[in-house]
Amino acid sequence: MPAPEQSFRTKPFSSKRNGGWLANVLPVHFCDSFLLVKLDSAKFRVRPGHGWRLTNSPTATRPYYNSKADYRKQIEERTQELASLQSLLYAHNRYALLIIFQAMDAAGKDSSIKHVMSGVNPEGCEVYSFKKPGADELEHDFLWRTTRCLPERGRIGIFNRSYYEEVLVVRVHPQVLRGQNLPAELLEEGLLWKGRFQSINDLESHLQRNGTHVLKFFLHISKEEQRKRLLARLEDPTKNWKFEAGDLEERDLWNDYMAAYEECLRATSTKDAPWYVIPADDKKNARLIISQAIVDRLKSLKMNYPRPDGAYQKELESIAKLLKEEKS
Ligand code: ATP
Ligand code: MG
Repeated sequence: MPAPEQSFRTKPFSSKRNGGWLANVLPVHFCDSFLLVKLDSAKFRVRPGHGWRLTNSPTATRPYYNSKADYRKQIEERTQELASLQSLLYAHNRYALLIIFQAMDAAGKDSSIKHVMSGVNPEGCEVYSFKKPGADELEHDFLWRTTRCLPERGRIGIFNRSYYEEVLVVRVHPQVLRGQNLPAELLEEGLLWKGRFQSINDLESHLQRNGTHVLKFFLHISKEEQRKRLLARLEDPTKNWKFEAGDLEERDLWNDYMAAYEECLRATSTKDAPWYVIPADDKKNARLIISQAIVDRLKSLKMNYPRPDGAYQKELESIAKLLKEEKS
């Protein structure tokens, strides 16, 4: 089993303070707090059903912060809240949380994971990144390699890419299937993808029935924002290592990827394991939305710190008494 990496339509948005005439007549601070919209993470959830369109989900929205300092304050509050919920998850030890990140290159998966999980105890959280499968992994069914990395009870598991690549990159590059040695009768176009969506939905329902909750984030960036970020990888010597020439080939297939994402999210966003489409052109805003969605999900679980029963409680009290009376 691989070791975890670390423990622990384009709708342009023109102005940060888009408050219309009010913004011009009210004092800035009043205006900011007055105009800031409450962050409702449910707004970004993909509702199960066939009508959903990716083109209706923006890559940028009005920011939920009004300055850098305000962002820092908010993200700090939320990461602290997340840290205490994770500590409760760990102590309660009944549920696990699997968080999946999918996105086009340079959408900010790594930095979102780093910032959002920054306050979490490394003992209770594991991050796995899934790249092109190796020869041994290709000898198994497509869910095998990720299943081995699912979080234990009481833990948070983060997948940086996941089994969803099997209906995204593999769908855009169906020649990859040749390396998977599947029986010919299973390769029929119409059956293959439907079958994979079904397998994924079955897996996630199974996990839910066994106490593992699944949250899925698609970091949605515009093609123009990706252009800027890839350019930054080329121009900034500290980011050169992140650039891969292959990223440009995938970029050329942008529309194919968007079609694959749309169908995938539509087929696999369920009540229990919902997809969230995160407007990700603004990284800070994206992190605030992601952390809020995780906090909301953890809060919805019925968790409590284990309490000792009567006899054990008495025993603890007498041990505490002894320690208090102990002379140094
Ligand atoms: P960044 O956003 O920083 O570029 P990344 O997640 O793209 O990070 P890379 O090492 O650049 O990381 O790329 C990993 C590659 O592995 C991706 O192109 C992804 O599509 C590919 N990959 C992951 N899982 C599979 C799979 N099951 N089959 C084929 N390719 C896969
Ligand atoms: Mg990449």
